[in-house]
Amino acid sequence: MTTVQMSGNGAGKGARPEVENVIVVGSGPAGFTAGLYAARANLNPLLITGNDYGGQVSLTYEVENYPGFPEGVSGPELVEKMKQQAEKFGTQIEFDYVNEIVVDRHPFLVRTANGQEYATKALILCTGARPRYLEVPGEKEYTGKGVSYCATCDGFFFRGKDVVVVGGGDSAVEEGIFLTKFANRVRIIHRRDELRASKILQNRAFHNEKIEFVWNTVVTEIVGKDGKVVGVKTRNTVTGEEGQLDTDGVFIFIGHLPNNELFHGKLEMDEDGHLVTDHFMRTNVPGVFAAGEIMDKVYKQVATSVGQGCAAAMQAEKFLAELEENGYPGFKDPRVFRQPVQTPA
Ligand SMILES: Cc1cc2nc3c(=O)[nH]c(=O)nc-3n(C[C@H](O)[C@H](O)[C@H](O)COP(=O)(O)OP(=O)(O)OC[C@H]3O[C@@H](n4cnc5c(N)ncnc54)[C@H](O)[C@@H]3O)c2cc1C
Repeated sequence: MTTVQMSGNGAGKGARPEVENVIVVGSGPAGFTAGLYAARANLNPLLITGNDYGGQVSLTYEVENYPGFPEGVSGPELVEKMKQQAEKFGTQIEFDYVNEIVVDRHPFLVRTANGQEYATKALILCTGARPRYLEVPGEKEYTGKGVSYCATCDGFFFRGKDVVVVGGGDSAVEEGIFLTKFANRVRIIHRRDELRASKILQNRAFHNEKIEFVWNTVVTEIVGKDGKVVGVKTRNTVTGEEGQLDTDGVFIFIGHLPNNELFHGKLEMDEDGHLVTDHFMRTNVPGVFAAGEIMDKVYKQVATSVGQGCAAAMQAEKFLAELEENGYPGFKDPRVFRQPVQTPA
């Protein structure tokens, strides 16, 4: 590992202090917003993009529910604007991937795939999440062209149309019910003959005239024509019989996976693997904050991720001011550390 240890004075763009004030991990909406706010607070933040530059929203062609864009905006354009705004105020953006964080000493350490090792006083983790994919032919090709993982985001595009929902848990049923506000017919395709969703949601779905269930069935292919979805190929899990359903849209809700590989055994997570934070975006380790879908399993929107990124950076600023005055709080609360805390060089 190479340690980045540049003086930061006059060494040009890319020169970094020996110990960073704050490193933001992730280049989705939460990360860029955290970078923007940290930069405007004069914290000279470093943002490490990860392999999915721009995060999940860059996968979508049209965002219509992010305020300030009444005509809508493409996902890639939105994140590009976020990046430019963060950079304009001094966020340094590194195209790299974090392999390891060390949070049982202070300053924390961040090690990357490019062989860099950074020391930092505060960390803002915005590694987001990813939908669980069906991994069938046509899925990638038609994402944003009829295949969706977000009813709140895309339901509006299916007014008066026919859609299928894949899944049988709370998300599938809840989103299926939501889609009946727009679509004429919503067919929920589930691999078993009963739902995993809560009884209350099941009752609502069973009493909704627009919802039909296709039991014991899996989707084996997404079929498109002229650049948009026209149907799904299916297989019955009991009889093996194959078929095809014509539809305009496929909403896939078979799970949501937080990108938490870095945090196992280091930071507190809930049963689904999201980082646990308080209202101030603080994890269980003082100085480590989290924002966006890595900690939020409820709202999962650009607007909410941006808000959480903003809050995390404001709290990081407060933490750094207190650190300056009182030193690292871990000294007073050794329970959060497995190893003795080291003093900054
Ligand atoms: C297809 C699709 C369409 C959507 N459409 C809409 C919409 O229209 N409106 C809306 O409000 N929401 C929409 N969403 C949801 C929205 O995209 C997310 O809520 C939002 O992107 C979450 O932002 P985030 O910053 O928390 O994380 P993400 O966007 O998930 O970004 C995570 C970032 O972390 C980085 N990262 C992960 N691991 C590491 C690592 N080890 N080191 C460094 N970096 C790392 C990744 O590279 C990525 O840049 C959509 C989602 C999808 C999948």
